[in-house]
Amino acid sequence: MTAWRFFPVEVRAIRRLTPTFLRVTFTGDGLGRFADNGYDQRIKLVLPLPDHGLERLPTGEDWYADWCALPDEHRNPMRTYTVRAVRPHLGEVDVDMALHGATGPASTWALSARPGDTACLIGPSADYDGVHGGVDYRPHDDADFVLIGADESAVPAVAAILERMPADARGEAYLEVPSPDDRLDLRKPDGVRVTWLARQGEPHGERLIPAVREATGRIVTPESARQELEDIDLDVDDLWDVPEEPGAGRLYAWLAGEAAVIRTLRRHLVAECGVDRRAVAFMGYWRQGRSEFIV
Ligand SMILES: Cc1cc2nc3c(=O)[nH]c(=O)nc-3n(C[C@H](O)[C@H](O)[C@H](O)COP(=O)(O)OP(=O)(O)OC[C@H]3O[C@@H](n4cnc5c(N)ncnc54)[C@H](O)[C@@H]3O)c2cc1C
Repeated sequence: MTAWRFFPVEVRAIRRLTPTFLRVTFTGDGLGRFADNGYDQRIKLVLPLPDHGLERLPTGEDWYADWCALPDEHRNPMRTYTVRAVRPHLGEVDVDMALHGATGPASTWALSARPGDTACLIGPSADYDGVHGGVDYRPHDDADFVLIGADESAVPAVAAILERMPADARGEAYLEVPSPDDRLDLRKPDGVRVTWLARQGEPHGERLIPAVREATGRIVTPESARQELEDIDLDVDDLWDVPEEPGAGRLYAWLAGEAAVIRTLRRHLVAECGVDRRAVAFMGYWRQGRSEFIV
Protein backbone atom coordinates (compact mmCIF):
# COMPACT_ATOMS: atom_id res chain seq x y z
CA MET A 1 0.00 0.00 0.00
CA THR A 2 1.45 3.39 -0.96
CA ALA A 3 1.24 6.56 1.13
CA TRP A 4 -0.05 8.66 -1.76
CA ARG A 5 -2.41 7.75 -4.54
CA PHE A 6 -4.35 9.19 -7.45
CA PHE A 7 -7.95 10.19 -6.77
CA PRO A 8 -9.96 10.83 -9.94
CA VAL A 9 -12.48 13.53 -9.02
CA GLU A 10 -15.07 15.85 -10.40
CA VAL A 11 -16.18 19.23 -9.20
CA ARG A 12 -19.29 18.95 -7.03
CA ALA A 13 -19.62 22.62 -6.05
CA ILE A 14 -17.93 25.98 -6.45
CA ARG A 15 -18.29 28.76 -3.92
CA ARG A 16 -16.76 32.23 -4.16
CA LEU A 17 -15.79 32.94 -0.54
CA THR A 18 -14.36 36.42 -1.17
CA PRO A 19 -13.10 38.31 -4.26
CA THR A 20 -9.85 36.27 -4.06
CA PHE A 21 -10.83 32.90 -2.57
CA LEU A 22 -12.74 30.24 -4.47
CA ARG A 23 -13.72 27.03 -2.68
CA VAL A 24 -13.79 24.01 -4.97
CA THR A 25 -15.51 20.95 -3.55
CA PHE A 26 -14.37 17.78 -5.28
CA THR A 27 -16.17 14.49 -5.18
CA GLY A 28 -15.12 11.02 -6.31
CA ASP A 29 -15.70 7.36 -5.46
CA GLY A 30 -12.24 7.02 -3.92
CA LEU A 31 -12.45 10.07 -1.63
CA GLY A 32 -13.92 7.96 1.15
CA ARG A 33 -10.33 6.72 1.55
CA PHE A 34 -8.64 10.16 1.40
CA ALA A 35 -6.69 10.57 4.67
CA ASP A 36 -7.79 13.51 6.82
CA ASN A 37 -4.45 14.67 8.29
CA GLY A 38 -5.40 18.33 8.72
CA TYR A 39 -2.88 21.11 9.24
CA ASP A 40 -1.10 22.16 6.04
CA GLN A 41 -1.43 18.83 4.23
CA ARG A 42 -0.35 19.49 0.68
CA ILE A 43 -1.61 17.67 -2.37
CA LYS A 44 -1.24 17.90 -6.13
CA LEU A 45 -4.10 19.03 -8.29
CA VAL A 46 -3.86 17.68 -11.83
CA LEU A 47 -5.94 19.45 -14.46
CA PRO A 48 -7.41 18.15 -17.72
CA LEU A 49 -5.89 18.84 -21.14
CA PRO A 50 -8.26 20.64 -23.51
CA ASP A 51 -8.77 17.72 -25.92
CA HIS A 52 -7.60 14.71 -23.95
CA GLY A 53 -8.79 15.33 -20.39
CA LEU A 54 -6.78 13.14 -18.05
CA GLU A 55 -6.28 10.17 -20.38
CA ARG A 56 -2.56 10.88 -20.90
CA LEU A 57 -1.71 11.23 -17.20
CA PRO A 58 0.82 8.52 -16.26
CA THR A 59 -0.22 6.73 -13.07
CA GLY A 60 2.31 3.89 -12.82
CA GLU A 61 5.11 3.52 -10.29
CA ASP A 62 7.35 6.00 -12.16
CA TRP A 63 4.52 8.37 -12.96
CA TYR A 64 6.50 11.52 -12.10
CA ALA A 65 9.44 10.70 -14.39
CA ASP A 66 6.97 9.63 -17.08
CA TRP A 67 4.98 12.86 -16.65
CA CYS A 68 8.18 14.96 -16.92
CA ALA A 69 9.20 13.09 -20.08
CA LEU A 70 5.96 13.88 -21.92
CA PRO A 71 5.95 16.57 -24.61
CA ASP A 72 4.54 19.86 -23.27
CA GLU A 73 1.25 19.53 -25.17
CA HIS A 74 0.60 16.05 -23.70
CA ARG A 75 1.48 16.90 -20.10
CA ASN A 76 -1.45 17.63 -17.80
CA PRO A 77 -0.85 20.77 -15.71
CA MET A 78 -0.12 19.91 -12.09
CA ARG A 79 0.02 22.37 -9.19
CA THR A 80 0.41 22.15 -5.41
CA TYR A 81 -2.56 22.97 -3.16
CA THR A 82 -3.61 22.44 0.46
CA VAL A 83 -6.44 20.28 1.68
CA ARG A 84 -8.89 22.69 3.27
CA ALA A 85 -11.36 20.03 4.45
CA VAL A 86 -12.03 16.32 4.01
CA ARG A 87 -15.46 14.69 4.45
CA PRO A 88 -14.79 11.00 3.80
CA HIS A 89 -18.38 10.01 4.67
CA LEU A 90 -19.60 12.22 1.81
CA GLY A 91 -16.65 11.47 -0.47
CA GLU A 92 -15.70 15.17 -0.58
CA VAL A 93 -12.52 17.25 -0.40
CA ASP A 94 -12.43 21.06 -0.37
CA VAL A 95 -9.57 23.06 -1.86
CA ASP A 96 -9.50 26.86 -1.50
CA MET A 97 -7.85 28.45 -4.52
CA ALA A 98 -6.54 32.02 -4.47
CA LEU A 99 -7.44 33.53 -7.82
CA HIS A 100 -4.69 35.56 -9.46
CA GLY A 101 -6.12 36.08 -12.94
CA ALA A 102 -5.69 33.96 -16.04
CA THR A 103 -1.92 33.82 -15.58
CA GLY A 104 -1.40 30.13 -14.90
CA PRO A 105 -3.26 26.90 -15.67
CA ALA A 106 -4.64 26.42 -12.15
CA SER A 107 -5.92 29.95 -11.64
CA THR A 108 -7.29 29.97 -15.22
CA TRP A 109 -9.05 26.64 -14.65
CA ALA A 110 -10.53 27.88 -11.37
CA LEU A 111 -12.01 30.96 -13.02
CA SER A 112 -14.19 28.86 -15.30
CA ALA A 113 -14.59 25.64 -13.24
CA ARG A 114 -18.14 24.23 -13.14
CA PRO A 115 -19.80 21.27 -11.38
CA GLY A 116 -19.07 18.10 -13.36
CA ASP A 117 -15.59 19.21 -14.52
CA THR A 118 -13.03 16.44 -14.05
CA ALA A 119 -9.58 16.60 -12.40
CA CYS A 120 -7.30 14.38 -10.36
CA LEU A 121 -5.94 14.80 -6.84
CA ILE A 122 -2.72 13.15 -5.75
CA GLY A 123 -3.12 12.88 -2.01
CA PRO A 124 -2.65 10.80 1.15
CA SER A 125 -4.32 7.41 1.26
CA ALA A 126 -6.24 6.35 4.37
CA ASP A 127 -5.30 2.75 3.55
CA TYR A 128 -1.67 3.52 4.41
CA ASP A 129 -0.96 3.45 8.14
CA GLY A 130 2.49 5.14 8.17
CA VAL A 131 3.25 8.86 8.01
CA HIS A 132 2.15 10.22 4.63
CA GLY A 133 4.40 13.29 4.55
CA GLY A 134 3.36 16.66 3.18
CA VAL A 135 2.46 18.19 6.55
CA ASP A 136 5.05 20.83 7.43
CA TYR A 137 3.43 22.44 10.48
CA ARG A 138 5.39 20.57 13.16
CA PRO A 139 6.00 22.66 16.30
CA HIS A 140 8.59 21.27 18.70
CA ASP A 141 7.57 20.15 22.19
CA ASP A 142 8.95 23.22 24.07
CA ALA A 143 7.19 25.73 21.83
CA ASP A 144 4.36 27.53 23.60
CA PHE A 145 3.93 30.43 21.19
CA VAL A 146 3.32 30.24 17.46
CA LEU A 147 4.09 33.00 14.97
CA ILE A 148 2.43 32.59 11.58
CA GLY A 149 2.92 34.73 8.49
CA ALA A 150 1.25 34.02 5.16
CA ASP A 151 -0.08 35.51 1.97
CA GLU A 152 -3.28 34.44 0.21
CA SER A 153 -1.68 31.32 -1.29
CA ALA A 154 -1.10 30.02 2.25
CA VAL A 155 -4.27 31.31 3.94
CA PRO A 156 -6.03 27.95 3.26
CA ALA A 157 -3.19 26.18 5.06
CA VAL A 158 -3.33 28.62 7.97
CA ALA A 159 -7.09 28.18 8.25
CA ALA A 160 -6.66 24.39 8.49
CA ILE A 161 -3.76 24.73 10.96
CA LEU A 162 -5.75 27.04 13.27
CA GLU A 163 -8.66 24.56 13.29
CA ARG A 164 -6.44 21.72 14.49
CA MET A 165 -4.43 23.64 17.10
CA PRO A 166 -5.03 22.68 20.72
CA ALA A 167 -7.64 24.90 22.41
CA ASP A 168 -5.02 26.39 24.75
CA ALA A 169 -2.58 27.37 21.96
CA ARG A 170 -1.15 30.90 21.99
CA GLY A 171 0.21 32.91 19.14
CA GLU A 172 -0.16 35.52 16.44
CA ALA A 173 -1.00 35.07 12.76
CA TYR A 174 -0.43 37.75 10.12
CA LEU A 175 -2.30 37.15 6.87
CA GLU A 176 -1.65 39.38 3.85
CA VAL A 177 -4.45 39.37 1.26
CA PRO A 178 -5.25 41.58 -1.74
CA SER A 179 -8.24 43.46 -0.28
CA PRO A 180 -10.11 44.07 3.00
CA ASP A 181 -12.99 42.00 1.57
CA ASP A 182 -10.75 38.91 1.57
CA ARG A 183 -11.00 38.43 5.33
CA LEU A 184 -12.42 35.03 6.21
CA ASP A 185 -14.07 33.89 9.41
CA LEU A 186 -11.54 31.45 10.84
CA ARG A 187 -12.12 28.94 13.63
CA LYS A 188 -9.18 29.35 16.01
CA PRO A 189 -8.13 29.07 19.65
CA ASP A 190 -8.93 32.19 21.73
CA GLY A 191 -5.22 32.65 22.52
CA VAL A 192 -4.22 33.09 18.88
CA ARG A 193 -4.68 36.59 17.47
CA VAL A 194 -5.28 36.83 13.73
CA THR A 195 -4.42 40.09 11.93
CA TRP A 196 -5.54 40.57 8.34
CA LEU A 197 -3.33 42.84 6.25
CA ALA A 198 -4.91 44.16 3.04
CA ARG A 199 -2.35 44.92 0.34
CA GLN A 200 -4.66 47.20 -1.62
CA GLY A 201 -2.48 47.25 -4.74
CA GLU A 202 0.88 47.47 -2.96
CA PRO A 203 3.58 44.89 -3.83
CA HIS A 204 3.55 41.45 -2.18
CA GLY A 205 5.12 41.58 1.28
CA GLU A 206 4.60 45.32 1.73
CA ARG A 207 2.33 44.68 4.73
CA LEU A 208 3.48 41.22 5.80
CA ILE A 209 7.21 41.93 6.16
CA PRO A 210 6.89 44.88 8.61
CA ALA A 211 4.16 43.09 10.60
CA VAL A 212 6.23 39.92 11.09
CA ARG A 213 9.35 41.97 11.85
CA GLU A 214 7.51 43.95 14.50
CA ALA A 215 6.08 40.78 16.05
CA THR A 216 9.47 39.04 16.06
CA GLY A 217 11.06 42.07 17.73
CA ARG A 218 8.53 41.83 20.56
CA ILE A 219 8.61 38.05 20.95
CA VAL A 220 12.28 37.08 20.54
CA THR A 221 14.67 37.66 23.43
CA PRO A 222 17.59 39.93 22.49
CA GLU A 223 20.25 37.53 23.80
CA SER A 224 19.58 34.97 21.03
CA ALA A 225 22.70 34.36 18.95
CA ARG A 226 22.50 35.40 15.31
CA GLN A 227 23.18 32.61 12.89
CA GLU A 228 25.01 32.42 9.59
CA LEU A 229 22.70 31.82 6.69
CA GLU A 230 23.53 30.62 3.19
CA ASP A 231 22.05 32.78 0.44
CA ILE A 232 19.33 31.32 -1.77
CA ASP A 233 19.22 32.22 -5.46
CA LEU A 234 15.51 32.10 -6.23
CA ASP A 235 16.21 31.88 -9.98
CA VAL A 236 17.86 28.52 -9.35
CA ASP A 237 16.53 27.07 -6.10
CA ASP A 238 13.21 26.82 -4.34
CA LEU A 239 12.91 28.39 -0.92
CA TRP A 240 11.95 25.43 1.23
CA ASP A 241 13.63 25.38 4.63
CA VAL A 242 11.57 23.13 6.88
CA PRO A 243 13.22 21.59 9.94
CA GLU A 244 13.56 17.83 10.10
CA GLU A 245 15.00 17.94 13.62
CA PRO A 246 13.02 19.57 16.43
CA GLY A 247 14.09 23.10 17.33
CA ALA A 248 14.57 24.67 20.73
CA GLY A 249 12.98 27.56 22.56
CA ARG A 250 9.47 28.73 23.23
CA LEU A 251 8.77 30.10 19.75
CA TYR A 252 7.72 28.12 16.70
CA ALA A 253 7.17 30.03 13.45
CA TRP A 254 5.49 28.99 10.19
CA LEU A 255 5.96 31.36 7.24
CA ALA A 256 4.67 30.73 3.74
CA GLY A 257 3.99 32.83 0.66
CA GLU A 258 5.82 34.46 -2.23
CA ALA A 259 9.41 33.17 -2.20
CA ALA A 260 11.26 36.52 -2.17
CA VAL A 261 9.06 37.75 0.69
CA ILE A 262 9.73 34.60 2.71
CA ARG A 263 13.46 34.88 1.97
CA THR A 264 13.44 38.39 3.46
CA LEU A 265 11.65 37.12 6.56
CA ARG A 266 14.04 34.19 6.86
CA ARG A 267 17.00 36.55 6.86
CA HIS A 268 15.34 38.73 9.48
CA LEU A 269 14.37 35.94 11.86
CA VAL A 270 17.50 33.80 11.62
CA ALA A 271 20.38 36.13 10.70
CA GLU A 272 19.20 39.32 12.41
CA CYS A 273 17.10 38.11 15.37
CA GLY A 274 18.82 34.79 16.08
CA VAL A 275 15.71 32.62 15.98
CA ASP A 276 16.74 28.95 15.91
CA ARG A 277 16.20 27.99 12.27
CA ARG A 278 15.03 24.54 13.37
CA ALA A 279 12.13 26.33 15.04
CA VAL A 280 10.83 27.84 11.80
CA ALA A 281 9.29 26.44 8.63
CA PHE A 282 10.11 28.85 5.76
CA MET A 283 8.22 27.99 2.58
CA GLY A 284 8.18 29.76 -0.75
CA TYR A 285 4.71 28.68 -1.95
CA TRP A 286 5.11 30.47 -5.30
CA ARG A 287 7.54 32.77 -7.07
CA GLN A 288 6.63 36.07 -8.69
CA GLY A 289 6.98 35.81 -12.48
CA ARG A 290 7.54 32.03 -12.53
CA SER A 291 5.32 29.02 -13.03
CA GLU A 292 5.33 26.40 -10.31
CA PHE A 293 6.54 23.60 -12.57
CA ILE A 294 9.25 24.20 -15.11
CA VAL A 295 9.94 20.79 -16.58
C1 LIG B 1 2.78 23.38 -0.26
C2 LIG B 1 1.97 24.38 -1.07
C3 LIG B 1 0.62 24.54 -0.80
C4 LIG B 1 -0.15 25.46 -1.54
N1 LIG B 1 -1.48 25.61 -1.25
C5 LIG B 1 -2.23 26.49 -1.95
C6 LIG B 1 -3.64 26.65 -1.70
O1 LIG B 1 -4.23 25.92 -0.90
N2 LIG B 1 -4.31 27.60 -2.39
C7 LIG B 1 -3.69 28.41 -3.33
O2 LIG B 1 -4.35 29.25 -3.94
N3 LIG B 1 -2.38 28.27 -3.61
C8 LIG B 1 -1.64 27.32 -2.96
N4 LIG B 1 -0.31 27.17 -3.24
C9 LIG B 1 0.28 28.04 -4.27
C10 LIG B 1 0.03 27.52 -5.69
O3 LIG B 1 0.66 26.25 -5.85
C11 LIG B 1 0.67 28.53 -6.67
O4 LIG B 1 0.06 29.77 -6.54
C12 LIG B 1 0.65 28.04 -8.10
O5 LIG B 1 1.68 28.70 -8.78
C13 LIG B 1 -0.65 28.32 -8.80
O6 LIG B 1 -0.58 27.78 -10.12
P1 LIG B 1 -1.06 28.56 -11.41
O7 LIG B 1 -1.18 27.53 -12.47
O8 LIG B 1 -2.27 29.38 -11.08
O9 LIG B 1 0.12 29.56 -11.73
P2 LIG B 1 1.60 29.20 -12.31
O10 LIG B 1 1.52 28.63 -13.67
O11 LIG B 1 2.37 28.42 -11.31
O12 LIG B 1 2.22 30.67 -12.41
C14 LIG B 1 1.78 31.59 -13.44
C15 LIG B 1 2.07 33.03 -13.00
O13 LIG B 1 1.23 33.33 -11.89
C16 LIG B 1 2.01 33.83 -10.82
N5 LIG B 1 1.40 33.33 -9.56
C17 LIG B 1 1.36 32.05 -9.10
N6 LIG B 1 0.70 31.99 -7.93
C18 LIG B 1 0.33 33.25 -7.64
C19 LIG B 1 -0.40 33.82 -6.56
N7 LIG B 1 -0.86 33.08 -5.53
N8 LIG B 1 -0.62 35.16 -6.59
C20 LIG B 1 -0.16 35.94 -7.62
N9 LIG B 1 0.52 35.44 -8.67
C21 LIG B 1 0.75 34.11 -8.68
C22 LIG B 1 3.41 33.27 -11.04
O14 LIG B 1 4.37 34.11 -10.47
C23 LIG B 1 3.51 33.23 -12.55
O15 LIG B 1 3.93 34.49 -13.04
C24 LIG B 1 0.46 26.24 -2.56
C25 LIG B 1 1.83 26.04 -2.85
C26 LIG B 1 2.56 25.12 -2.12
C27 LIG B 1 4.02 24.92 -2.45
